[in-house]
Amino acid sequence: MLELTQRKGFLFDMDGVLFDSMPYHAKAWHDTFADFGIAFSEYQVYLQEGSTGAKTVNDVFLAQKHRLATDEEVQAIYERKCERFKACGQTVPMPYALQVLERVREHGWKVGLVTGSGQRSLLGTLEHYYPGFFAADNMVTAFDVTHGKPDPEPYLKGMRKLGLQPGETVVVENAPLGVRAGKAAGAYVIAVNTGILTENDLAVAGADVVLGSMSELWRQLA
Ligand code: MG
Repeated sequence: MLELTQRKGFLFDMDGVLFDSMPYHAKAWHDTFADFGIAFSEYQVYLQEGSTGAKTVNDVFLAQKHRLATDEEVQAIYERKCERFKACGQTVPMPYALQVLERVREHGWKVGLVTGSGQRSLLGTLEHYYPGFFAADNMVTAFDVTHGKPDPEPYLKGMRKLGLQPGETVVVENAPLGVRAGKAAGAYVIAVNTGILTENDLAVAGADVVLGSMSELWRQLA
């Protein structure tokens, strides 16, 4: 059972929650790092998801090259990754995400979005698939934060934008770093395992509950 008494708003992650975009991100990161002679598996992409592009590049450089990437390397790799992501084609919405948003609104809860993404092509399609749900006053993106997930900053900023206290906030996440960010910000965190991770990957990150899909979340919000 979800613990939703006293909750007043939901903050949704974007990739892997609102968009079924993680297979494309995984392939784009994997292929981009391969272009630069670096091995990085798609499972690792899922594990690090939610981090900013720059932090992802720097983490991989530290682990494999024992140094940080230069600003030029970060920019070149992230630009290539964005190109490869776009070349994957149009991202499709996550099944049942729109129904979840509608049900949250029907219950009178506020809705916001908190993403580590700076992928403008994807941010631009939010209004197309989820008309009337997201605008500048209820969105936090990579352009708004100094510290990406798992730092609590993105979710704390989301709460501030919506006028929510941590105990009033529900976070919906699909990634371990996002779950940790939501918990560090003091929210109730629902993990939806929409990708290739194990349920345990999300449970050990601290999720209050782990569900298998957005349709399962939709049913539990009835
Ligand atoms: Mg995600």
